[in-house]
Amino acid sequence: MKILLVEDEPKVAAFLHKGLTEQQHTVEVATDGPTGLRLALAGQHDLIILDNLLPGLSGLEVCRQVRAHNPAVPILMLTALGETDDKIRGLDAGADDYLVKPFAFQELLARLRALVRRRPETAASVPILQLADLTLDPASKLVQRAGQPIQLTAREFSLLEYLLRYKGRVISRVDILEHVWETSFDTGSNVIDVYINFLRKKIDKDFTPKLIHTLVGMGYVMKEE
Ligand code: CA
Repeated sequence: MKILLVEDEPKVAAFLHKGLTEQQHTVEVATDGPTGLRLALAGQHDLIILDNLLPGLSGLEVCRQVRAHNPAVPILMLTALGETDDKIRGLDAGADDYLVKPFAFQELLARLRALVRRRPETAASVPILQLADLTLDPASKLVQRAGQPIQLTAREFSLLEYLLRYKGRVISRVDILEHVWETSFDTGSNVIDVYINFLRKKIDKDFTPKLIHTLVGMGYVMKEE
């Protein structure tokens, strides 16, 4: 398996890297949150091991953002003893399992095997996102409105997937920048407006009801109205 390990403690990272490599896995290591997130979003990993307390960006936040893009990749969170609330939040954020430090390496291997066994099921059960007669299938990347296939670029797809996942909720531009553009740095450009307009042309222009709504000064919301 190709495993992404996000862990800032050098001893733990080295121990896990050695052990997993000995088990014939390929291991990519990140030692802070932002790097972990970047690698997770860029790479095709079979599994992600994610420490919770990380410099730059917490494991929870990394998990949440990875999930918004990749519902299928198994994520095992590592938490320190006593972070009970974080365990629960980790599962809420989309982690598949967690392991409390310190743990035995055999325990980690057992958890990884269980996660990977579960994976085909998980992948098959990725729900299709739907609003009115618009559907988006995260697994097949197929988007349809009123039964007609709609061709989207990768970025348009990510943006629509993100908005649909949180349909009915107001999504701010900062949220979109962080989750779709993977940056929290607002360049002051109108890139989001441009992409919203692309989406509107493709999924709203020739159809009713309109599904993408702008709330001036607040952001965007997808709903039937
Ligand atoms: Ca840590």
